[in-house]
Amino acid sequence: MCFEESIPFVARRGGGHSEWSTIGKEGVIIDLGRCKGVEVDGANRTAVLKGSILSKKVDVALADTGLFIALGNGNIVGAIPYFLNGGASITTSITGFGTDQILAARLITASGELIEVNQTHNADLLWALRGSGRFFGLVIELTAI
Ligand SMILES: Cc1cc2nc3c(=O)[nH]c(=O)nc-3n(C[C@H](O)[C@H](O)[C@H](O)COP(=O)(O)OP(=O)(O)OC[C@H]3O[C@@H](n4cnc5c(N)ncnc54)[C@H](O)[C@@H]3O)c2cc1C
Repeated sequence: MCFEESIPFVARRGGGHSEWSTIGKEGVIIDLGRCKGVEVDGANRTAVLKGSILSKKVDVALADTGLFIALGNGNIVGAIPYFLNGGASITTSITGFGTDQILAARLITASGELIEVNQTHNADLLWALRGSGRFFGLVIELTAI
């Protein structure tokens, strides 16, 4: 509806710290606060991050299965926006940036289409998500590591 009516909209909450989340009273801010989760696949060494899941929750869930991901020090930072927007941590010199660990995503485009993004589907978008992901749609799930 926003797209059809040319109403500006932006995703917010991950953690909701970014001043760039604010678009003014004429627009719509999509609050992901009640949509969140993390699913760890120990066998495949991957994690699916959902909605507004915070960094600490992801760290703890991974540590429980002996895994690690290149999250930063901010426990209350949204894990998805951290990965989408770069993600520098104390381990960057050995792990790369957090964004380098994105393997796949489920994303809602501005026109309302739900699409899969991975190395075989919309592969160009996978590269785009790595570092500038907030510009291409609403990421509802991110698979990483
Ligand atoms: C206390 C603190 C510690 C930090 N530590 C680090 C650090 O160690 N390393 C580092 O690299 N950065 C760090 N940051 C910066 C942080 O990673 C980024 O500012 C991050 O983008 C903001 O996270 P947030 O959860 O507040 O995002 P939000 O403010 O919720 O969103 C940030 C941007 O991403 C967009 N966005 C949010 N969710 C989605 C989504 N699901 N799909 C598409 N777009 C979305 C928003 O529209 C907005 O433009 C820190 C920030 C804070 C406040």
